[in-house]
Amino acid sequence: MSDAADLRRRTAALLAAHPVATTDRLDFLRARFDAGLAWVHFPEGLGGLGAPRALQAVVDAELTAAGAPDNDPGRIGIGLGMAAPTVLRYGTEEQRRRFLRPLWTGEEVWCQLFSEPGAGSDLAGLATRAVRDDGGDWVVDGQKVWTSSAHLARWAILVARTDPTVPKHRGMTYFVCDMTDPGVEVRPLRQITGEAEFNEVFLTGVKIPDAHRLGEVGDGWRVAQTTLMNERVAIGGARTPREGGMVGVAAAAWRAHPELRTHDLHQRLLKLWVDAEVARLTGERLRQQLTQGQPGPEGSGMKLAFARLAQQLSGWEVEFRGEDGLTYDDWTLRRPEGVDFTGRVAGYRYLRAKGNSIEGGTSEVLLNIVAERVLGLPPEPRTDKDVAWKDLPR
Ligand SMILES: Cc1cc2nc3c(=O)[nH]c(=O)nc-3n(C[C@H](O)[C@H](O)[C@H](O)COP(=O)(O)OP(=O)(O)OC[C@H]3O[C@@H](n4cnc5c(N)ncnc54)[C@H](O)[C@@H]3O)c2cc1C
Repeated sequence: MSDAADLRRRTAALLAAHPVATTDRLDFLRARFDAGLAWVHFPEGLGGLGAPRALQAVVDAELTAAGAPDNDPGRIGIGLGMAAPTVLRYGTEEQRRRFLRPLWTGEEVWCQLFSEPGAGSDLAGLATRAVRDDGGDWVVDGQKVWTSSAHLARWAILVARTDPTVPKHRGMTYFVCDMTDPGVEVRPLRQITGEAEFNEVFLTGVKIPDAHRLGEVGDGWRVAQTTLMNERVAIGGARTPREGGMVGVAAAAWRAHPELRTHDLHQRLLKLWVDAEVARLTGERLRQQLTQGQPGPEGSGMKLAFARLAQQLSGWEVEFRGEDGLTYDDWTLRRPEGVDFTGRVAGYRYLRAKGNSIEGGTSEVLLNIVAERVLGLPPEPRTDKDVAWKDLPR
């Protein structure tokens, strides 16, 4: 198995064979994948070397120092954080080989067709139907909503109901959906920020070959758990340097504007700074504990902490900036491309952070998960567990 020294040697060999200054960006990313340096904890032949996940930092540091291009992780977060670990765990060898390389290099963007108008927190109640045709393939009809990046996506991870006669958790199946199918219609949805990061997606007679099913028929809930657990780690557990992210923005505002400082705001910023550092170090420990792509319910705790901090810090910044905190920079129906939250005004950060406690599972639902699966408290009463989905009131 690779250790840090071996990874440094392999990274140096990659850089020697593909000099950063003269190699096309995509060629470099493909070569990096083929060298097993994309995600070192993935298996050999699929962008990794079967190395401990924590050693990825060694490769990343060497490549950053050499000025190597990255795969623009912000643009392909759903593919990297959610689709990839699910394809790795449940995909056939053929599916893994088809999907993982262009996913990692960013040649193919992925989106997540889970939430529906009548099924968000209660994802298992979803109504989009997948019906098998005579050839054994599938025809999908239904509506999804809040689908981030659907307007950019080549592929989607999709959960659909394949058997309405059994209780809701048992009658779903997980697919990879081709977003270029003529039956897929994507319509933008404007958010509180004025942007349209996400969309409604209408599925009408969409054909999905059985070869694009992930996991067994009827096992969609179990497959979706892998996606959701990874989603929470991807949202809440991103690696940041000390004073990175939202706390860095708030601290920079504090340093730049001594004239706006008050004792109360100072005390609150110090407390938030400490909370952010605790969250960062806890995330570091969580990442070290992760075995290959299989986070547990602890990721829900990280995502909870992230959402709370992002909302408190952005609220602090708006208050600190006084009148300036109330100005806004862009109400056009813009698709965010290339500008992250640090490049926007305080009001944008404040409004965007509202979504942090909803996306990837609401904070209330994550509290339930932490209560039941981390603390072992009694479960919520669930009266629909043994009722066929078709008989549930909707
Ligand atoms: C920015 C953003 C991006 C998103 N991107 C995607 C995406 O790409 N793909 C996708 O599929 N979805 C996406 N979503 C949707 C998101 O997953 C859902 O909004 C979320 O799961 C909540 O579902 P809902 O909106 O239907 O609210 P509901 O489930 O109707 O919840 C309404 C309220 O009831 C509370 N509640 C519900 N059930 C319980 C319970 N059991 N206990 C306590 N309280 C409860 C909730 O916490 C919430 O406050 C995105 C959402 C946002 C905000």
